[in-house]
Amino acid sequence: MALKTPGRYLDEIRARDLRIFYRGRRFENPVDDPIAAPAARAVADTYAAALEPGTGMAAASPLVGEPVNVSNLLWSSRDDLIARVKWERLIGRRTGRGALRSPGLDAINALAVVTHACDRARGTEYHARLVAFVERIQRDDLAVSGAMTDVRGDRSRRPAAQADPDLFLRVVDRDSKGVVLRGAKAHQTSAIHCHEHVVLPMTCGPGEAAWAIACAVPSDAPGITHIFARQPSDSRRAEDAPLDVGLPAFGGCESLMIFDDVRVPWQRVFLCGETEHTQELVRLFGSFHRFCYGGCKVGIADVVIGAASLIARANGVADSRAIRDKLTEMVQLNETMYACALAAAVEGQPTPAGTVIPDIALCNVTKLNVTRFPFEIARLAADIAGGAMLTLPSQADLEHAELGPLVTKYMTAAPDTPARTRMALFRLLEFLTHGSGAVYFLHESLHGAGAPEAMRIQLRREIPLDPFEAAARALLAE
Ligand SMILES: Cc1cc2nc3c(=O)[nH]c(=O)nc-3n(C[C@H](O)[C@H](O)[C@H](O)COP(=O)(O)OP(=O)(O)OC[C@H]3O[C@@H](n4cnc5c(N)ncnc54)[C@H](O)[C@@H]3O)c2cc1C
Repeated sequence: MALKTPGRYLDEIRARDLRIFYRGRRFENPVDDPIAAPAARAVADTYAAALEPGTGMAAASPLVGEPVNVSNLLWSSRDDLIARVKWERLIGRRTGRGALRSPGLDAINALAVVTHACDRARGTEYHARLVAFVERIQRDDLAVSGAMTDVRGDRSRRPAAQADPDLFLRVVDRDSKGVVLRGAKAHQTSAIHCHEHVVLPMTCGPGEAAWAIACAVPSDAPGITHIFARQPSDSRRAEDAPLDVGLPAFGGCESLMIFDDVRVPWQRVFLCGETEHTQELVRLFGSFHRFCYGGCKVGIADVVIGAASLIARANGVADSRAIRDKLTEMVQLNETMYACALAAAVEGQPTPAGTVIPDIALCNVTKLNVTRFPFEIARLAADIAGGAMLTLPSQADLEHAELGPLVTKYMTAAPDTPARTRMALFRLLEFLTHGSGAVYFLHESLHGAGAPEAMRIQLRREIPLDPFEAAARALLAE
């Protein structure tokens, strides 16, 4: 059976010998270290959910002839796309983080289209290699990251014009066996918790063949080092005070992933030097990932809205018209993001590669809303919560022999919500909107899958204004 238990997944990652550093020290393993463990559990939840009926996280794959985790599925129908929006929301809601294998999912689906096109144009053999890779990750239920973002140095310069050519990941050597990679990928979601990385290039032009590299690299390949990112309030995880963490069960993580002369055999290479295909790869990967935010960020927002509503109850103002209006506005904003993603799925189209992809323009509209609405939802939640969300005493004070009764007395508001529950609600909301969770609910909503300008540029390309001008001209009274 292709579906793995979460326990087996965690054991496999625990057993990997990865070089991961956090604040200058090396993690013994990324599963049990208290700073990284919540993110490992969030990836594990994608395994757990696939074994639960009704989640939509397992689907039949024609490639292997049995149910596979949808995190590794090549989409073959609009229903796959619609289902994706729904399971992304479900996992966002149940973890407060999201389905952390999604960058890998977007990477394989983008590569399916582009390798097929490249083979047709150039007579290369990339598509069959990609399909063989997908078959393996499906059969072995592997967690796969999607690694596109180069560190990029001076943003105004192209790869070859950078002071240091390694600022975009590149091929530094090649022989009959394969290629050697050097450089770094930034902000890599869950890469430390994956079995495989799918490496993708950013857009390359003529003369930039060395940087036009797409391939799959096992996460324990020699030469890879991760520098694990700090997040706001991350050290609370090591303080043995789950109430102060806010969301102790799950989390997320990013790392700066450095490739120091990493060898990749040819059968794992999916593009090497074909610069003319990189722009389409960026368009598809970026747009697919923007599409998924209309599910996963919506799921996190479900939790934010729920926490705000419960805080209103705990504060004794749940029946206030003004509070209910704010909660309704939060729901409206959230469902708008969801509706856009569903529309992108419904308008999906088949590709010559045999896969089906969401509507690219609507993927970008979805993400443009996501760059703004979670911020407004967070603002409304903060409005409802009041100041205590960020001025609250600690768990240690609540449990202190002398201070505890005072904290309980002064943190109690509506009589039917215990002080500890009210404090836990404030902390959950604090985590999602100001703490580690804000990395995903807010900053990733803004920058993940590209800064907002990238969506605007894409939208201008996808939806030219000429037909609208023609429509206006046709109705002119002149
Ligand atoms: C939480 C999180 C998770 C992520 N996960 C992944 C992942 O799993 N895999 C992955 O590959 N990437 C990932 N990313 C990276 C994400 O795609 C990038 O953050 C995004 O593309 C923006 O790039 P940047 O952060 O380098 O910002 P920049 O590109 O530096 O953007 C900063 C500002 O500069 C502007 N700008 C940039 N270049 C120019 C220019 N030439 N001219 C004028 N203005 C310019 C932008 O529009 C923006 O306003 C993640 C990011 C975050 C925050």
